[in-house]
Amino acid sequence: MAEIHHPLFRSIGRGLSHHCPACAKGRLFGKYLKVQPRCEACGHELARYPADDGPAYLTILLIGHLIVGPALFFPIVWETSPAISLPIILTALTLVTLVALPRIKGAWIGMMYALQVTDREQRLHTADAAD
Ligand SMILES: [Zn+2]
Repeated sequence: MAEIHHPLFRSIGRGLSHHCPACAKGRLFGKYLKVQPRCEACGHELARYPADDGPAYLTILLIGHLIVGPALFFPIVWETSPAISLPIILTALTLVTLVALPRIKGAWIGMMYALQVTDREQRLHTADAAD
């Protein structure tokens, strides 16, 4: 079987911009986080790339380290009454998370595409083991 090379950073970039990692023309998501079964432009099967909890975990990791951690160094966070600061901080974190999650999921699927990790292989291995 011929090895197909998909550049990692190009595939991740296409996923980040919500586009098919194979052609960069079709949309990756049908709804907010729902991956299209097939690319509308090139027909590539997009649903076979496993995302599972990876994008959610990575989103929490990034937002925790890049936003929550550094925010604790600002005295205003500690000096303001929690009744005022908590609703503002939690609303901002929720918005940032909702914006970041589909981009990170797209990048994740782009990475799965580049590394050629698919659900189908997993199912085939399971089927082989059952035989
Ligand atoms: Zn495509």
